[in-house]
Amino acid sequence: MELSLNDMVVFKHQKTLAPINLEFSNKEINVILGPSGSGKTQLLRTIAGLQQPYRGNILLDGINIKNTPVRKRSVAFVYQEFINYSHLSAYDNIAVPLRQKLKLPQEEIESRVHEVADILKISDYLEARPNEMSGGQQQRLAFARALAQKPKLLLLDDPFANLDFQLKQHLRQFLRKSSRECIVIYASSNAEDSLALSARTTVIDQYQTVQQGHAREVTQFPSHLSVAKFSSEPAFNILEGQKTGKFFVSIKGFKLDLGHKGDLIPEGPCYLGISPDRIHRAESLDSPSGKVEFVEPSGHLNQVTLSTEENEVIVLRVSQLEEIRVGSKLHYAIDLDSLFFYSAN
Ligand code: ADP
Repeated sequence: MELSLNDMVVFKHQKTLAPINLEFSNKEINVILGPSGSGKTQLLRTIAGLQQPYRGNILLDGINIKNTPVRKRSVAFVYQEFINYSHLSAYDNIAVPLRQKLKLPQEEIESRVHEVADILKISDYLEARPNEMSGGQQQRLAFARALAQKPKLLLLDDPFANLDFQLKQHLRQFLRKSSRECIVIYASSNAEDSLALSARTTVIDQYQTVQQGHAREVTQFPSHLSVAKFSSEPAFNILEGQKTGKFFVSIKGFKLDLGHKGDLIPEGPCYLGISPDRIHRAESLDSPSGKVEFVEPSGHLNQVTLSTEENEVIVLRVSQLEEIRVGSKLHYAIDLDSLFFYSAN
């Protein structure tokens, strides 16, 4: 199954920006990653048919569905603020679209409701109303309604944002399974989601595609400043400054000798990006140093925030076995091969 967005402009007032061209398939989970307000929801709404694009085509397996009404699109949508029919039982919440939209025979409805309820572990609640269920169960109910329809396109708008860790894990596993049977497009503002789903990731910023690739690639090799600021995991150190000779000098005065790498980077104003995992604790007292401001757990490591004499903030991650005291002085070394430079324009 393939979905292509061809030369798409979502809104009329977007027309000065480049149109969007994207391809999605059911071979992998697709994540659209972007900060809040970057246009993810509007893009999903356009794919679903809840709004018409200003320009461009939407091809599902080669057929243009741009003018196909929502109810005929084989699309199911799950929102962050899960929406259930409060006056109906959980059973009917799942059954209504099967009855009204797909007009399935009663036996088929019965079997699909029980199948999805079983997978999502809400079988015991089918007689309950949504408000008698917990938040997590209600979100699973919204998922169940979407999946029971066996749509070709499953659109998810940040559906895990309010869920606890275990439930997220369970739903992620389950999404991986469903992703073989339909095209899953998952909008998220959290790079961790993309990594956890091992998804093919499209980063958008200001309604434009800025980078595409596997989750690991995008989060570790951000090609644009906006991706480095937003999608890197753990969040990159971003320093603003000037490349002069073989040095990078930050606006606060922090100076870094770039060695050979200095020849490759054009002179002038730029941003430097470096992952906290590429800054190491150094033994040598000649190395630059900073004062430890915070030590916080970050995954299986500790994240250490340093302030330098030039008032620059540097974040690095170290093993939790290392004892690091707040207020102490720590020498560090930056892995020069792992620096990213972005033009300031
Ligand atoms: P997100 O889901 O990433 O938080 P939204 O899709 O809700 O972002 O978009 C935020 C606002 O930006 C919308 O209310 C809309 O007015 C505007 N917007 C979204 N997409 C576009 C676009 N393609 N062109 C112009 N404006 C847009």
